[in-house]
Amino acid sequence: MHGSSGRMGQAIIKEAEVTDGVEIAAEVDIGIDLAANIDQADVIIDFSLHSATQGLFELAVEKGKPLVVGTTGHSPEERVKLRELAARVPTVWAGNFSIGVNLLYFLTQRASEILSMEYDAEIVEMHHRFKKDAPSGTAARLAEIVLEKRNLKASDLRHGREGITGERTQREVGMHSLRGGDVVGEHTVSFAALGERLELTHKASDRRIFAAGAIRSAEWIVGQPAGIYDMQDVLGLKA
Ligand code: NAD
Repeated sequence: MHGSSGRMGQAIIKEAEVTDGVEIAAEVDIGIDLAANIDQADVIIDFSLHSATQGLFELAVEKGKPLVVGTTGHSPEERVKLRELAARVPTVWAGNFSIGVNLLYFLTQRASEILSMEYDAEIVEMHHRFKKDAPSGTAARLAEIVLEKRNLKASDLRHGREGITGERTQREVGMHSLRGGDVVGEHTVSFAALGERLELTHKASDRRIFAAGAIRSAEWIVGQPAGIYDMQDVLGLKA
């Protein structure tokens, strides 16, 4: 476990204790030499800091060890370079390890394919009062999926409504951000037609969901060919 003292590191160590067949071979954080501990592990799980990623990947490539990477915060240029390195070993790299959110992506994609434009798509997300950005990255990804499957453009996104807006057009995809309290993260995609409405909702209440996804990825990645995978691969959600 690389980044073992952090919030995610601790959550993963706890989750491993209650997962059959999984054992934390070594806990590595600042001040502990990963190179001295790497041989005893079948796979490295990394939730640490963006600046640690390159060194970690170089060592994993040298030792031929599979990786599960949850660390975020790399610039797009860094990501290009890092992906070249990561592709040389089996790597699961995902910005969101929640199994539920990844299934929500898949279900949103299927619903967008199956339901006609008669079904108005609207996305609502809610997060705690301390969140500094809107909409959430997960909501933005959901919108991207709907736009792509409906052949719409980013300019068809409608962030909130106010005043005399006129009737809703079929092309628009509504996006609404609620803020308050200590809500960890909630996302709903609605498809509303005349006579019925389908709602796909995910509610996160504990970072344990990310830990469970990371452990599931670690079990899955061992034995896969070298290359970069995401949670959709782990969950078998790719067509
Ligand atoms: P945190 O700050 O609580 O923990 C990070 C840990 O990494 C700390 O213990 C720190 O000492 C350690 N660390 C920093 N540099 C290191 C180095 N060079 N070598 C070894 N250890 C080092 O952060 P967190 O909340 O646990 O999140 C960690 C990362 O995971 C962040 O980038 C966060 O955005 C990301 N994250 C991803 C997901 C996901 O689903 N993909 C979910 C939650 C968090």
